[in-house]
Amino acid sequence: MFRHLPPSGSPIKTKELLEWIKDSTLRIDRRHDLTSMINNKFNVDFSYLLSTGRGAMVLLLKSLRDLANANHRNEVVVPAYTCYSVASSIIKAGLKIRICDIDPETLSYNIDQLKNIPYDNVLCILTANLYGLPNQLTEIEMLAEKHNVYLIDDAAQSINSKYKGRYAGTFGIAGIYSLDKGKNITSIDGGIIVTRSKELSNIIDERYKELDSPTFRDNVITTVKILIYYFLLNPYVYWLPANLPFLKLGDTIYDDKYLIKKYSSMFAPIALLQLSRVDSITASRVGNGLWYDTNLSQNTIIKKITVLESALPAYLRYPIRVLDRNKRDLLVESYKKYGVTISYPNSLDNLDEIAEHVVGMEKCHVAEQVANELITLPTHIFVKEEDRLMLCNTINELSA
Ligand SMILES: *Cc1c(COP(=O)(O)O)cnc(C)c1O
Repeated sequence: MFRHLPPSGSPIKTKELLEWIKDSTLRIDRRHDLTSMINNKFNVDFSYLLSTGRGAMVLLLKSLRDLANANHRNEVVVPAYTCYSVASSIIKAGLKIRICDIDPETLSYNIDQLKNIPYDNVLCILTANLYGLPNQLTEIEMLAEKHNVYLIDDAAQSINSKYKGRYAGTFGIAGIYSLDKGKNITSIDGGIIVTRSKELSNIIDERYKELDSPTFRDNVITTVKILIYYFLLNPYVYWLPANLPFLKLGDTIYDDKYLIKKYSSMFAPIALLQLSRVDSITASRVGNGLWYDTNLSQNTIIKKITVLESALPAYLRYPIRVLDRNKRDLLVESYKKYGVTISYPNSLDNLDEIAEHVVGMEKCHVAEQVANELITLPTHIFVKEEDRLMLCNTINELSA
């Protein structure tokens, strides 16, 4: 009766918790093991661990700015529908945001619009790869090369997904992964930069050295979060935090009050173990994603998101569009307990907090519409067959 599915999240196993306790007690630092595993798996030469994905993005953007060594290049191109953290990282790095509209079928860039951006002051293009679905990465990479700007492949939501046989996060000059609690694998907090560029890594090295390490207090806070997460992510107890309004679980709010620090050695054992089983975590999410894909039908108000040909998605969540706003809101309200949620409530062109940092402001009507339509269904390991069936039958019954 009190079962409540979280919208996303990757449970920390008891074995992982015990290993973490052991390594922390013996003060074993697993950060080097973690970066080696990342370099091997993603076939990159350099990786950096930070306290958050946002921090990783800020450090990367500042380093790219140094690498470009061209003062007028201060704009970052982003899709108009993406994670608010991306916008806050760009602002924190002292750069401007240039928004480009998206394709409602794939949630990737509207490529025609991307082609027509004035690139004179652009430093780099960012991908989004939302919900574990890769963007058209080779096309964007070629476009960036053609215009002589960098590409950052943000795979915070798409670790272990592939496009044309290459991992998302490894396109362009550098990529980002996140180990935050809502992502594919997690140590509650954490961000990763990966790159193959020696020149860029030299610059990042210099900046990385200057960063603070997490304090004792930071580690205590993260420890408490890990324990809460370990005990409360389970659907039979998740109703408890889900019903505490002050926790604001699942609300997407714009937040720029975070510090950029190194990743704590204390939590590396958890990330290491989660990364070592990322294939099986992904397989279970993909199983649920493909099941929804097969069993949900489209009609005048229900639209599935098209996975690009040549993409192997990781399905962090399963997104669909409900074209009737009232029906969407009712669905989310009624099926919160099944982990159904809206995603980002606004497109970036409608986000007041960032407006003064946006250049070439144009309305992005598609992104605005998608923000009003999109919902996501959970794909994590706690989703049972009867949950999927229930959601699927409910959604299949919705029509205009
Ligand atoms: C979560 C996320 C980030 C930031 O990662 P954090 O670890 O939460 O700071 C960046 N980009 C995208 C697309 C994300 O989803």
